[in-house]
Amino acid sequence: MRSGFGCESCGSPAVRLPADLNDDAMIECDGCGCTLMAWGAFKRRVEAQETAERHEPAERRAIRARAQPVR
Ligand SMILES: [Zn+2]
Repeated sequence: MRSGFGCESCGSPAVRLPADLNDDAMIECDGCGCTLMAWGAFKRRVEAQETAERHEPAERRAIRARAQPVR
């Protein structure tokens, strides 16, 4: 499954992180080498995604409920 992130130019989900990780450091696409966004913005994007995944859709909870029957 895709992480939800992909380079707009080449579609690669891989990023090249700067040696000095601060919120203003720019990260680059590992596929084509273009500048993607600042590390701080990327972090917030990943965190927002993780938060969204914690709030599971009802259908996914239903699947798990079926997989683990209540005794
Ligand atoms: Zn790229």
